[in-house]
Amino acid sequence: MKITIVGAGIAGLSTAWSLTKAGHDVTLIEQGPIPNPLAASGDHHRIIRRAYGNAGGYADAISEAYEAWDELWHDIGSSHLDPRGFICVSREAGDEAEEYRQGLEHGGYPLELYESREAVKRYAYLEEGTFRYAFFCPEGGALHCKKIAIDIARWLRARGATVLENTRVSAVDSAAGTVTMADGTVIFADKVVVTAGAWVLKLFPKLATTLTTYRTAVVYLEPPADLKAAWESSPVVLDVGGRTDGYIIPASGGGGLKFGSGLHKRKTPDANLDRIPAQGEGEAIRDLFAPPIKRLSEYKVTDVVTCAYTFTSDERFFATEMDKCLVVSACSGHGYKFGAAVGRRVARSIGDGDVPLLQRWLRAEAA
Ligand SMILES: Cc1cc2nc3c(=O)[nH]c(=O)nc-3n(C[C@H](O)[C@H](O)[C@H](O)COP(=O)(O)OP(=O)(O)OC[C@H]3O[C@@H](n4cnc5c(N)ncnc54)[C@H](O)[C@@H]3O)c2cc1C
Repeated sequence: MKITIVGAGIAGLSTAWSLTKAGHDVTLIEQGPIPNPLAASGDHHRIIRRAYGNAGGYADAISEAYEAWDELWHDIGSSHLDPRGFICVSREAGDEAEEYRQGLEHGGYPLELYESREAVKRYAYLEEGTFRYAFFCPEGGALHCKKIAIDIARWLRARGATVLENTRVSAVDSAAGTVTMADGTVIFADKVVVTAGAWVLKLFPKLATTLTTYRTAVVYLEPPADLKAAWESSPVVLDVGGRTDGYIIPASGGGGLKFGSGLHKRKTPDANLDRIPAQGEGEAIRDLFAPPIKRLSEYKVTDVVTCAYTFTSDERFFATEMDKCLVVSACSGHGYKFGAAVGRRVARSIGDGDVPLLQRWLRAEAA
């Protein structure tokens, strides 16, 4: 089949990879460079982790996610996973860190529990007395997004797929199977897959009933010299407990020490708006992490990266079919880790036409 894919974030790249392997004639179109620094997939690193609290179906799906990444590493000839595991720090009974622990225990997945003093011995950047316990799980780490994007694009070109950068699609006609580029060029295909991330509503405004666009930012920090070694050897910090909704990725794969918080996001009418960080924004994100991170004012802001992404109301992934067009949104702030698996699943649904199965799998309701 002749297939056009709109958007080369991880979902579009992986779908192109899997469809090209299956022998389809693929054209992948990206409005910016690959990777696009404005895309959700365009930052240095993202977390992969087994923990999923109450959304247990996604925890189980992590096995498939790892398997799909392994297939990708094999094809592109190198692994871009840093398997350093992750920790969670619980500060209040019933906080998200505790939900993650319960979810792992419920699923029978491995974890090591440390009371506060023992945790501080292992992770010297934590402030003793500010949290209840921490736990470590080996099933997680950091995925190196920029390297993944560069290698998939290279692999696609080597396998004969057409990869267009700096080419914006201005319209999709789902009945005709055509996409129109900003310069007026029209391409026809048997199938169009739209993986446009936070820009999807520009092409399909009606999906605003299902998808909400948010703007957020993350901060890169230089830790105090005497805490550098502790961060270098640290697992990913999936959750710092309490209501911070905060995560930290240590320097890995060329990306620096990064802090991000779900508290620091706000609705936006347009993914292109408000992309220059505000004065003091990095320090404001950083300061959300005390407690349990100690001496935060000594951490120097080195960069602030803004980002736009979409959420569904229940934070599950989403796909919808319109005639010859399949729109896929695997985000809600947690989709990167499933990127390669999403690509394989989307390709499979195009092969066998079973979109309902794809939709159930995206919602973590089907194996
Ligand atoms: C701050 C932040 C932290 C996150 N942390 C994690 C994490 O730790 N772990 C995790 O698993 N997930 C995480 N996520 C979620 C993850 O980043 C997303 O789920 C994933 O990157 C979405 O990929 P995508 O391909 O769907 O969208 P995107 O990466 O946004 O890609 C869409 C692409 O489509 C292109 N495009 C859009 N419209 C057009 C058009 N008209 N023409 C041509 N091209 C177009 C865009 O330029 C873009 O490159 C995080 C997200 C954010 C924002």
